[in-house]
Amino acid sequence: MAKDDRGHVTDEALRELGERARQCTACRLAETRTNVVFGDGSPEARVMFVGEGPGRNEDLQGIPFVGAAGQLLNRLLGEIDMRRDDVYIANVVKCRPPGNRDPRPDEIASCKGFLADQIRLIDPDVVVTLGNFATKLLLKQEMGITRLRGHAYPWWNRTIVPTFHPAAALRGGQSVLDKMREDFSLIESVLSDTADIEESEAPEPEQMGLF
Ligand code: SF4
Repeated sequence: MAKDDRGHVTDEALRELGERARQCTACRLAETRTNVVFGDGSPEARVMFVGEGPGRNEDLQGIPFVGAAGQLLNRLLGEIDMRRDDVYIANVVKCRPPGNRDPRPDEIASCKGFLADQIRLIDPDVVVTLGNFATKLLLKQEMGITRLRGHAYPWWNRTIVPTFHPAAALRGGQSVLDKMREDFSLIESVLSDTADIEESEAPEPEQMGLF
C-alpha cells in the first residue's frame, strides 16, 4: 500500500495504540504519572524522533518535547526546512520517571512494545535517536552517544541517525549544538538519498522484529 493511501489506516491504528498506552499500568511509572505521553506528529512522517522519557512539562501536558528542549528541536528542524508537523516524536518510555531519573531496565522492557508498534505503523525512512537511552535500545550498542553520533546506521530497511538529546545541548552549550547541527544535516542527506532509492527501487517494507 502506498504511504499516502495508508495514512488514514495508520492514523486509526496509532489512535488505538495510544488509547492502550493511556490505560497501561504495566510498570511502576503508572503510579506517579499525570499523563501518558504517547507521541505526537504526522502518522506519515518520513522522520521519527525517539527520546528517553517525558519530563515535567511533558507529563503535565501529555505531549512530548514541549518546553526548552522542544523549542530547540523545533529550531533545528527549521534549519533543515522541516516543521514539527512533518515529523513524529515519541519516547522510549511513555510515562515520566519521577524526578526525571533515568528509566530502569524493567520499565524500558515493559514499554518498548509501544515504541516498536509506533515505528512499524509510521514506517519512517529515518529514525533519529536522541541521547543514550534511545540509541542503545535501538542499535543494541553499549557505546555512548558521543562515539555513535555523526554516522548513519542501516536498520531494518531504514536508517538510524543518532544524535544528542536536546536537553544535553541546553546544558552542554555551543559545541554540543554544533554537533547536533551536523547530525541534522546528515538527516537531510539521508532523506534525499532515500528519495532517490525509492524512485529507482521502491523496496517493500518487511515485517520487522525491531528490538
Ligand atoms: Fe505502561 Fe510504558 Fe507507562 Fe510503564 S511507562 S505504565 S509500560 S505506558
